[in-house]
Amino acid sequence: ATQPINVKLLLIGNSSVGKSSLLLRFSDEQWVPEDEASATIGVDFRHKASLQHVEMSLRLGALVHKMDIDGKKVKLSIWDTAGQERFRTITSSYYRGAHGVILVYDVANRESFDALPRWYNELETYVNPKVVKMVVGNKVDKEYSRQVTYSEGQHFATRMNSLFFEASAKTAVGVADAFKEVVRRIVAEPELVGGGKPKA
Ligand code: GDP
Repeated sequence: ATQPINVKLLLIGNSSVGKSSLLLRFSDEQWVPEDEASATIGVDFRHKASLQHVEMSLRLGALVHKMDIDGKKVKLSIWDTAGQERFRTITSSYYRGAHGVILVYDVANRESFDALPRWYNELETYVNPKVVKMVVGNKVDKEYSRQVTYSEGQHFATRMNSLFFEASAKTAVGVADAFKEVVRRIVAEPELVGGGKPKA
């Protein structure tokens, strides 16, 4: 069997845009109860178990998923800032070794969108220019209080040479699609992930 491709993904963006919630939602969707007992206990338990899993993983550093993308085995670790962003800057060690970065804003919070150029500049100083970038407008369920249109988000992403998705961690719309697309683009860049060969 071939070794899985290791992929490191980061989430950045203002505090409260929903970075941890996106991670939790993605994790929950991928999460399958291991036995009958947990399956019958139901959704509440699953949520709590999943939340604990995410919290534990974040304390250890990152959430790790194994997934298959286009027939390739991928070991995906997703890093959340765990509150560091409240200090308006993230240490360079957080960015080290990243293959992909997701910049998150809240479609119902103009300030979080206006902060994206600053986040983008910061990441440009730390990451390899080949790193796959994606802009995600979260909280699309709050359509009634939307402050940033889809096309504004899309235009910004295009200018920043980034992929673009809108999503909702609350309703799950777009979440798995966004994560899978960014991983797909990363594994399609052999220079970025070492072509699946073992690291020297
Ligand atoms: P972080 O600081 O970026 O990690 O943001 P959190 O994940 O802690 O979320 C901040 C707040 O926004 C919490 O109250 C979440 O429940 C809420 N939230 C996150 N995602 C969504 C979403 O898609 N829709 C709505 N309506 N609320 C969300």
